[in-house]
Amino acid sequence: MTYAIKKWDLTQLFPGFGSPELESAFDNVEEQVASFEGVRNKLNPEMDVKTFLDVVRASEATSRTANRINVFAGLSFSEDTQNQNAQSLMSRVQQFTAEMQNRTLFFSLWWKQVDEKNAERLMSASGDYRYYLEELRHFKPYTLTEPEEKVVNIKDVTGSSALVNLYDAITNRYVFKLEVNGEVKELTRAQLQPYIQGSDPDLRARAYQELFRVFGNDGPILGQMYQTRARDWHNENVNLRKFSTPIAARNLNNDIPDDVVDTLLEVTRRNAPVFQRFFQLKAKALGMKRLRRYDIYAPVAQSDKAFEFGKAADMVLESLDAFDPKVGSLARRVFDQDRLDSEIRKGKESGAFCASINPEDTPFVLMNYTGRARDVATLAHELGHAIHAMLASHHSAFTFHSSLPLAETASTFGEMMLTDKLLAAETDAAVRRDILFKQMDDAFVTILRQVFFALFEKQAHGMIQDNATVDEMCAAYMENLKGQFGDSVEISDEFKWEWVSVPHIYAVPFYVYAYAFGQLLVFSLYQQFKVEGDAFKPKYLKILAAGGSEAPVKILSEAGIDIHSAAFWQGGFDIISRLIDQLEKS
Ligand SMILES: [Zn+2]
Repeated sequence: MTYAIKKWDLTQLFPGFGSPELESAFDNVEEQVASFEGVRNKLNPEMDVKTFLDVVRASEATSRTANRINVFAGLSFSEDTQNQNAQSLMSRVQQFTAEMQNRTLFFSLWWKQVDEKNAERLMSASGDYRYYLEELRHFKPYTLTEPEEKVVNIKDVTGSSALVNLYDAITNRYVFKLEVNGEVKELTRAQLQPYIQGSDPDLRARAYQELFRVFGNDGPILGQMYQTRARDWHNENVNLRKFSTPIAARNLNNDIPDDVVDTLLEVTRRNAPVFQRFFQLKAKALGMKRLRRYDIYAPVAQSDKAFEFGKAADMVLESLDAFDPKVGSLARRVFDQDRLDSEIRKGKESGAFCASINPEDTPFVLMNYTGRARDVATLAHELGHAIHAMLASHHSAFTFHSSLPLAETASTFGEMMLTDKLLAAETDAAVRRDILFKQMDDAFVTILRQVFFALFEKQAHGMIQDNATVDEMCAAYMENLKGQFGDSVEISDEFKWEWVSVPHIYAVPFYVYAYAFGQLLVFSLYQQFKVEGDAFKPKYLKILAAGGSEAPVKILSEAGIDIHSAAFWQGGFDIISRLIDQLEKS
């Protein structure tokens, strides 16, 4: 069967904004929360295991219903960020969630205070909930009193969450004007992207200039929004909760030790020259003396080969089938159940993501399919996320979702399988070379670029504490780019506005290093796959099936990987260096 570009079908979650089903889900959560409040006086460190587990199960049941409402609101908003019903539902859900969380907060606060011995007794009998319960206790030193936690929750609704929603709503309605073949086109950011990555050097430059003209026009305001977000993060996490640094709050959420993240960032920074060598090679391939920043994603083959959606879907599914037919059939569920929104529409969120709801649900995937090779890779990437969630569907709603650093494993692995499939099928040496260059482009985007974003975030959060102006932050960003590209790339001035165009640093501070973590990890796993073949598959599937039921360090050490060691991360860059050697000879 051939799949076509489509919009997803959100009515599978709820029939619509005002539907009785949606209202009764809200009521349901409220009733469950009211009954949950009744267990408050039953809580006692000495309580028996059965009563304890009943409490945890009740809380999971409430989360399931709440997850459905949450995802429905979030997806409705991202399918049309200008839809007033969606905006209003989002606000309502955020308010509602905060209120419900506040009423049930007493449980996690109590749980963190339980003595070690009783906590161990209860956890060891709690099966799949164990890691979830253990994780909660990690936050004990950073937890405030109940009234304080409640104030933070309720103020976030109209504070930082509202700010992030506004940022999305403002930036997703931007219109970019670009003259193409004598005609001025009005484009969304997703529609501008192909020109940024296209084969015409002049169009590339003008597309970038337009991108940052529009963002730069609002730059002072967007920059101020970022400053507010970072101040809020610092006020809460460092001043109130006493995390040692702003990034430490994210690291604990990811359950990745601070020293592992430091090592990852430092090893990557040291390896910036590896990518700089690639950019010099790419300049040569493009017949240029030195790349401009506009050119780093330029295709080396002089064609912008388009892929019809049905063909793209087939390629991705075939590459998954070749690894394991079970994996391919999981991906097909996303298509067959209309959970993929691949269409381009004005107001639709740019970029791509996969949203999982509860363990038993097929996830929803959003992307903007324009027909480029890169979109085929994005399709493989997002389906990888969906597969990851479905492989972990035997876990609870609290533990099926992998933590951020492992969340990019199946997605990146899926992209690499697709690349191998394309290489195997391609006989034209020029196109093969183009594919290898694209693979390097992607490695740059996921590793070096994200790590330098993270380094900038660290610096920016510090500067904001020192009352830096938006212009000073722009200057710091330009310095960051120089560290990233060295002399290998010429960077024009408008790139100083790039940071205000990165949604992740607003929505989820310090999220971005997870991409580099995932990609370097996958390089190493993929290398093992090539050496071990079929013997590797169960080990890999086990990592995915673990979902978020264990600490990442533990899941990986069982697969023989030590993320504490700098040598492990360096190994990823050695693989990249060999890729560049291969390109140099081609
Ligand atoms: Zn991803």
